Amino acid sequence: LPALRRQSWSVPSFVAADGTLPRLEMEFTVSSKKLQTMVRHMVNEMRKGLESDGHMLKMIPSYVVARPAGDETGSYLALDLGGSNFRVCMVELRGQGQTAIRQSKHMVSDELKTGSGEALFDFFATCIADFLKSIGIDPKEKRALGFTFSFPVEQNAIDHGTLMQWNKGFACSGVLGVDVVNLLNKAMKKAGMNITATALVNDTVGTLVSHAYRDPQTFVGVILGTGTNAAYVERIADIPKWTGDRKNITDMVVNTEWGAYDEQSILPITSYDQALDRASNNPRKQILEKMISGMYLGEIVRYILVDLVSTGELCRGIFTPKLQTPYAFDTAYMSRIERDHSLELSDTKAVLENMLDVHNTTVQDRRIVKHVCELVGIRAARLSAAAVAAIITKMKRLDACTVAIDGSVYEHYPHFANRMRDALRELLGIMAENIVLEQARDGSGQGAALIAALHAK
Ligand code: BGC
Ligand code: MG
Repeated sequence: LPALRRQSWSVPSFVAADGTLPRLEMEFTVSSKKLQTMVRHMVNEMRKGLESDGHMLKMIPSYVVARPAGDETGSYLALDLGGSNFRVCMVELRGQGQTAIRQSKHMVSDELKTGSGEALFDFFATCIADFLKSIGIDPKEKRALGFTFSFPVEQNAIDHGTLMQWNKGFACSGVLGVDVVNLLNKAMKKAGMNITATALVNDTVGTLVSHAYRDPQTFVGVILGTGTNAAYVERIADIPKWTGDRKNITDMVVNTEWGAYDEQSILPITSYDQALDRASNNPRKQILEKMISGMYLGEIVRYILVDLVSTGELCRGIFTPKLQTPYAFDTAYMSRIERDHSLELSDTKAVLENMLDVHNTTVQDRRIVKHVCELVGIRAARLSAAAVAAIITKMKRLDACTVAIDGSVYEHYPHFANRMRDALRELLGIMAENIVLEQARDGSGQGAALIAALHAK
């Protein structure tokens, strides 16, 4: 922990006389100018990634070349492996942008996340078989299936791709460099099913496509959840590294994998970010993701609080085991604390007591905790906005564009959307009014179904 650098905890070093946290404010505040630099740099990195492989931004061609017309119909099976859950969905496309969905949701345990790949895919197969049984469908029936797999996958066809890297706490053995569709198909066969996956999609691609089913102005899909990433529609002429057929293709959806952005000279990386990164199970990877997404925001706050306690400026220097437990401070707690506008910060008190065993806090303690949450939350929203601005700039769609955004952070974290909007205005000026940030829901499920449908066409 970064507390070592102080000799004595009796020397206060964070909290000013007026109760503000000037040092943390300085470290966590990102100026408009910095954000602007980030946008320019990111656009350049996107270009590099489109030219050839092996750059900071992977810019993965998704093989999705068509967006839905809105009149697609039929029933499709969709799987969604996100950051925390696995879902099996039966999506009914009813045309006119209408869908109906039945689904089952399963938590992916830590054992599964870090066990063998075979166990993970066998688990998927069991969930699928149980779900089909529960809705009265014969698992031996042939049907199309869209598989949303929310990790960087090098796609070599719409229905094939190999895992490049695990993120978000996953570390299953035997999957890296392997075709995840083959693993899935094998597991389903072993479980007695006749289903084969016909489309493999990233959640950002699914989000884009499913939102476009209703709003044809949608050209960007973003996830701000457990992890973060974006996909957008690129001109095939601007993807020099695409070696496939160009005939009759004008655009293709590209998965940016922006969570891997890590320009040290631009990102405001603090000692807390470094400590978090070092202790993570994917060190030196996904640096932007670790500053933005739900898996990590609470953990950054926890590192800061530990530092403040160690100087004696918070909670009279008294630690609790919970506060010293990695990932014990959920990003959901930050949401509650940021939503707490009571005079005495009574809900903040409740969170600290019930969730972290931190008792006897003063109002001043709670103000400090809230302020720390704000600093980390605002930084995340502003960096997210810069990343969105980079995509819009790269696309040259400053005149009109809908950005579909899904994920727990965007949906549930208070003020996140407004803070992004404000930062977009700083970055794009009046042009920001042409950019519609829209809450997308269940893009992963419906998007996979739609892409399966488009591919069956
Ligand atoms: C993955 C992306 C995914 C994002 C959001 C990241 O960790 O690398 O593929 O889209 O999380 O789920
Ligand atoms: Mg998801």
